[in-house]
Amino acid sequence: MSDYIQELNEGQREAVLYNDGPSLVIAGAGSGKTRVLTYKIAYLLENGYQPWNILALTFTNKAAREMKERIARQVGADRARHLWMGTFHSMFLRILHAEAGQLGFTSQFTIYDTADSKSLLRSIIKEMGLDEKTYKPGTVQARISNAKNHLVSPAGYANNKEAYEGDCAAKMPAVRDIYRRYWERCRQADAMDFDDLLFYTFLLFRDHPEVLAHYQELFRYILVDEYQDTNFAQHSIVLQLAKNHQHVCVVGDDAQSIYSFRGADIDNILYFTKVYPGTKVFKLEQNYRSTQTIVRAANSLIEKNQRQIHKEVFSEKEKGESIGVYQAYSDVEEGDIVVNKIAELRRREHYAYADFAVLYRTNAQSRVFEEAMRKRGMPYRIYGGLSFYQRKEIKDVIAYFRLVVNPNDEEAFKRIINYPARGIGDTTVGKIIAAATENNVSLWTVLCEPLTYGLNLNKGTVGKLQGFRDLISGFIAGVTEKSAYETGTEIIRQSGIINDVCQDNSPENLSRKENIEELVNGMSDFCARRQEEGNPNILLGDFLSEVSLLTDQDSDKDGDDEKITLMTVHSAKGLEFKNVFVVGMEENLFPSGMAGNSARALEEERRLFYVAITRAEEHCFLSFAKTRFRYGKMEFGSPSRFLKDIDARFLHLPQDAVVSRRIDAEAGAFRPRQQIISPTVPRNLKRVTPSAGSSSSSSLSSSSVSSSSKAVPGIVQPGQLIEHERFGLGEVLKVEGEGDNAKATIRFKNAGDKQLLLRFARFKVI
Ligand code: ATP
Ligand code: MG
Repeated sequence: MSDYIQELNEGQREAVLYNDGPSLVIAGAGSGKTRVLTYKIAYLLENGYQPWNILALTFTNKAAREMKERIARQVGADRARHLWMGTFHSMFLRILHAEAGQLGFTSQFTIYDTADSKSLLRSIIKEMGLDEKTYKPGTVQARISNAKNHLVSPAGYANNKEAYEGDCAAKMPAVRDIYRRYWERCRQADAMDFDDLLFYTFLLFRDHPEVLAHYQELFRYILVDEYQDTNFAQHSIVLQLAKNHQHVCVVGDDAQSIYSFRGADIDNILYFTKVYPGTKVFKLEQNYRSTQTIVRAANSLIEKNQRQIHKEVFSEKEKGESIGVYQAYSDVEEGDIVVNKIAELRRREHYAYADFAVLYRTNAQSRVFEEAMRKRGMPYRIYGGLSFYQRKEIKDVIAYFRLVVNPNDEEAFKRIINYPARGIGDTTVGKIIAAATENNVSLWTVLCEPLTYGLNLNKGTVGKLQGFRDLISGFIAGVTEKSAYETGTEIIRQSGIINDVCQDNSPENLSRKENIEELVNGMSDFCARRQEEGNPNILLGDFLSEVSLLTDQDSDKDGDDEKITLMTVHSAKGLEFKNVFVVGMEENLFPSGMAGNSARALEEERRLFYVAITRAEEHCFLSFAKTRFRYGKMEFGSPSRFLKDIDARFLHLPQDAVVSRRIDAEAGAFRPRQQIISPTVPRNLKRVTPSAGSSSSSSLSSSSVSSSSKAVPGIVQPGQLIEHERFGLGEVLKVEGEGDNAKATIRFKNAGDKQLLLRFARFKVI
């Protein structure tokens, strides 16, 4: 038996060695599910399977890459390279590229990203004369996406009473017509959206038995990680492929199902054994990732969910420290608390930056942590947010690439027909769209022969359209001959984009130019890499397929860097870090306000929190802020209900959870606010001038921090720290005037510099 099999516990080993029929590994976080899959693949390769006969589906490209690297160490990089291993979308894209003709697409079809889909929907809604306020493109898109994830075609949708009633209830009875048009328009444009990659794969296999037979034969073993987050379409395709040989192994944890909003169906795992009769189920109970305290705290949390498969998860690692819960005065202070804690842990336990992750519920929360880290010179890496490929200038360049590779691409066409400006206005574009829709052809077809399609244009406009057509046609002429890099640089130079971004040296333009240069570097790397792998001729289309499914999370160019990781909890799935901060633990944030009072939605939020905590190996911290800037205004928050779900034995609330710190405490010392305040308040109070306010001495002597106690106006001196009732913590910069006219300039942490008349100012000296 190979050495690595010894690195498994008994349950894991049995799961790896069982390959006679379908199997399901269902187990809690950190119990080695992904390890089982990885080792099983290595085992299969050593026992007669060829790498191209194995299909392994993961949730992120990053996860696939990590598994591949691990397997490569075992069986050699050459063999590992030929595995069909990646996300559902990327693996199916490969199949669809090869089989596109069967579905009426060309092999160069475009992939519409979410923005493209929305933009197309917006056009359709407008063309149909519907009100965009009722038919919000985002909402319509979600409905269509949901239909596709349930394998419901436009025809099926039109006949579906339930769907129609739902649409009527939402005052959008025309969704079915929009869906039909959208479907047709995508086909016209030779484009698929993300959901289509699943739907068309399903249709391909359903309607072309010979194609299905080919892939059933090819994929002799199918493995799926994070099965709890598959949707109906994914589940059905796996079933199509595995039906005959039933060599399928899926792993998952019902307690970590967090994508129901994207159509994931926890039932796929709950009913797996019914769909695949004779399934052998393996349960793993030992967590190898986290300390006992973290595992037990997570267990106590998830127990509060009704809908779950009961599991006993235990850890034999050290007991570990209890989970620290921190209250911050504001979101900005929460940022400071986290960076101070990181500094402290690094000093005390010599952690690397890469050992830390800050996890939040929504992308917008990253900003304060970024600022705090930048201020302290801490290196960080942020996942999600606006990805490189979502930036305007990059999207512009990519739109040129797309149109050159697939001239029927409607969204790319609309994006660049007048960029850089060439005098082709909206009216002209509107005429092209109308003619194309009427004649069931693409915009490009109309552009090539505007007069044939009866476009009423003046001579000048015809000339401009011709100029654009000639430009693109020139690129098209070389696209199957020249390398991606050559065509790419030619397009960037000749399209006028480079002139546009170089027209002045404004910082915006410089940064756009840098981004475009970065894209060119990326293309050159891509060509070099693929050439090394033995593919001499890398075309622009190959580059587009590579980037069309990339998200920021996947592009780990600097993956091994020594950096703190900032990411949403959703994207942390499957990952692990020595130290984890789960921040923003407030009502309406985590759980999200969108969950409302829906028991189902709240259970999903709780599972999300479970995912967050179980990422931690050694230390886990939770924090919340009393005030937070959201949607452009200050909001008051209360601690998340989830904090109460965790057994208090595993929590550590420093001094009644009230923690503050000195405003510029570089040492990173955390001192409970009461300790800071109580000894100093009486001393300062003595200095209150008789004229400085009407507060009674009884309220002044209170050392409580509760905001109901009256704030204390007083004489202050530059350098002193104060806590203002409304503006929070601040440092006194300057004091002017006397008596009733005494004024202080105070620099507030969150509210900037303010001049306050001391007579009225409501603050305490701390
Ligand atoms: P998640 O539910 O978060 O996806 P998982 O069940 O997939 O977790 P893994 O990521 O496979 O768990 O394993 C968690 C950690 O425990 C990894 O660092 C892994 O290398 C380690 N591990 C798993 N099994 C063993 C074992 N038998 N001996 C030592 N370490 C193990
Ligand atoms: Mg895993």
